[in-house]
Amino acid sequence: MPEVATPPRTNLLGLAREEFERFMLDAGDRPFRARQIMKWIYKQGVADFGAMTDLGKSLRANLAERAEVRVPEIVTTQVAGDGTRKWMLRVDDAPHGDRTIDQGIEMVYIPEVDRGTLCISSQVGCALDCTFCSTGQQGFNRNLSAAEIVGQVWLANRELGFEPGGERIITNVVFMGMGEPLANYRHVLTAARILMDDFGFDLSRRRVTLSTSGLVPQMRRLADDCNLALAVSLHAPNDRLRDTLVPINRKHPIAELLDACWHYIDEQNGRSVTFEYVMLEGINDSPALAVELIDLLRGHPAKVNLIPFNPFPGTAYRSSQTEVIERFRDLLNRHGVIATTRKTRGRDIDAACGQLAGRVHDRTIVRLGRKLVSVVAEV
Ligand code: SAH
Ligand code: SF4
Repeated sequence: MPEVATPPRTNLLGLAREEFERFMLDAGDRPFRARQIMKWIYKQGVADFGAMTDLGKSLRANLAERAEVRVPEIVTTQVAGDGTRKWMLRVDDAPHGDRTIDQGIEMVYIPEVDRGTLCISSQVGCALDCTFCSTGQQGFNRNLSAAEIVGQVWLANRELGFEPGGERIITNVVFMGMGEPLANYRHVLTAARILMDDFGFDLSRRRVTLSTSGLVPQMRRLADDCNLALAVSLHAPNDRLRDTLVPINRKHPIAELLDACWHYIDEQNGRSVTFEYVMLEGINDSPALAVELIDLLRGHPAKVNLIPFNPFPGTAYRSSQTEVIERFRDLLNRHGVIATTRKTRGRDIDAACGQLAGRVHDRTIVRLGRKLVSVVAEV
């Protein structure tokens, strides 16, 4: 007799609340059970249906048949002298792909006195090819599913301890690891909803930050769909320079990008947009460029975060000297543009957000051009 293929189990980590409720209905149960199960998964860190003691036996058995709570696999864990942790994770290969190829992503936890920030990945690799970014230089492999994105936060919570003594360890999540989150719009949005849901990780909207290199159409869509903190990778105050550092600028230049930022703030009643600016020696760090940046941002709800460049093998860029960064920052502050410098954390384990160089076996190496357009247009 031919074997009947069992349908794949649904990974519950990928279901936002409404989808979860629909799933429960389809499973022949009542929608409110979704909230009960979400509490087990996200508050207690329980992945085993057998341990969800307030669910009936038949429901537990039904769930075990149809569903799972599956997270990426930890390949390595590194802990830096300052408490920063970096995990290298393996996610499944794309279903149609060569199953012997592992997909590597990275995730970083940065403890501070008043908060704990988890930096997560949204894609394996990135297609946008920014010249100073090691992820971009590796090319793009695939989008992460919503479950793989949420799974990172679940996993970090498990490793660090789910709210020991009621105290939250991870208070902030930033989409600043590998990948361009807005190029994986649907899955990132579902994940962000689960992060902020009362029955999910219950993070405040100001504590979930999405960083984008400037996919303008998706930023406009986001203004209708989701309220979270927005960070934009600006890196240059004029199109001539930004075109060379962030190639997507050739498609969506600065004026268009800033319009989308102010629109987001208006629609979502936001406080301000954080503009990231990686400090590259001799490239974008002169006082004249600081003045251009001031002209661009003064009077708008904007903050600037200066990031010392983190070198990686093969790059020709160098980070600006500390004094140069301080001068640039002070100039902005003196002229009414709030600017801070990002502290470098976990230096001994190479853990800076935004340069997480997981092992990407790239089959496609996408460069700006036809393929980039298709990646961006797909969402
Ligand atoms: N793709 C998104 C989010 C991931 S990158 C984006 O570009 O915004 C997160 C941040 O790290 C971005 O501001 C990015 O420009 C910055 N970054 C990338 N490579 C870096 C490097 N080598 N050193 C310092 N910052 C870097
Ligand atoms: Fe992609 Fe962001 Fe790196 Fe640019 S900086 S290549 S958008 S991950």
